[in-house]
Amino acid sequence: MKNDNTDGIKQSSFNIGTLGHIDHGKTSLVRALTNVWADKHSESLKRNMTIKLGYADMIIRKCSGCEGSSAYTTMEKCPSCGTESKPLMRVSVLDAPGHETLMATAIAEANIINGLLFVIAANEPCPMQQTKEHLMVINLLGIKNVLIIQSKIDIVGKAGAIESYNQIRKFVKGSVIEDAPIIPVMTNYGINIDVVLDKIANMPKPDFDPNASPKMYVARSFDINRPGIEASDMSGGVIGGTLISGRLKVGDEIEIMPGILVQGQKKNVYKPIVTVITGINNGADDMDEALPGGLIGLSTEIDPSFTKADGLVGNIAGRKGELPESLSKITMKYHKLNRGDLQEGAMSNGEALILSVGTATVVGFVKSVKRDNVELELKKSVPIEKGLKIAIMRNISQRWRLTGYGIF
Ligand code: ZN
Repeated sequence: MKNDNTDGIKQSSFNIGTLGHIDHGKTSLVRALTNVWADKHSESLKRNMTIKLGYADMIIRKCSGCEGSSAYTTMEKCPSCGTESKPLMRVSVLDAPGHETLMATAIAEANIINGLLFVIAANEPCPMQQTKEHLMVINLLGIKNVLIIQSKIDIVGKAGAIESYNQIRKFVKGSVIEDAPIIPVMTNYGINIDVVLDKIANMPKPDFDPNASPKMYVARSFDINRPGIEASDMSGGVIGGTLISGRLKVGDEIEIMPGILVQGQKKNVYKPIVTVITGINNGADDMDEALPGGLIGLSTEIDPSFTKADGLVGNIAGRKGELPESLSKITMKYHKLNRGDLQEGAMSNGEALILSVGTATVVGFVKSVKRDNVELELKKSVPIEKGLKIAIMRNISQRWRLTGYGIF
């Protein structure tokens, strides 16, 4: 439909993660990439859905009148020649605040991201400590499709930018991203944003099996009702997240596991929730069907008191009887980050760890350690599948620090 502000592409088909040292310009890059979209959808921002889902979308468009990277834009009218551009794809840019959290999120998101923007500022020597740690995470997880964004080149001038470029090249040598493009950008002036868009649009697309069993880790959940609303006018609870496989339609019956904690005599007994999808929203527009890619909100018939204030975060949603088991006892293989800045001893029995499992954050106690195999007892049941990467934080010198990840 013409003038439809979604350009007919309601479903995001690609998730881009972001990593970068604090103050290296990650946020302004995300803004430079997505602000046009966000401005157009100020109504939805008012409704707060996008913010609650914690991501921003952009629609990459292509101009038929331009060649090379300058053909790529997020504007309806090509900024180079004024021709009306055509929408190519919708991309969700996932951003996360906080450093340790960010690295844990990166590990958790490695299950759902299709590409990564690694932001390194030209006005500081490379590598800074966090930049070093981020490369460790990228290397450890073998994240492919990485673009190195050299930010703040307007501050250092040409000679400074070249010196910084050489430092970055040397820094990534021998890593999984040694051949990744380094793209100098000036986010304030929109310089080279078209190159970034070109590279994202031409990253390999993930395989999609429409017949796979649908699965969504719940990353957000909320109650959209205003206080004091009549019970008869109440809307059901909303759950948000990314589909990692399959597809879901309005009207589908879904099960949410492990569900609601039952306050009974026995501890940690959960009751799965079975409900119907009454609506699907991408943060701005209603959709009939959701596919993998991007964050979506599912309206349901769940009592909103269960979904309010992220009450269902960490659950998994999908077709009844097809979801992975929720476990409170697990054995995982531990992969150490070998961070140079941490004095890390061996794990000991009874030690408490903080784990990110899917979208769940849970405390686990070490029961036994045999070589790299760590047996854990978790404080609550979490849905877990074979091969899932679990971020692990240990308490070192009174602080929770990301030390590695486990594979279940
Ligand atoms: Zn053009």
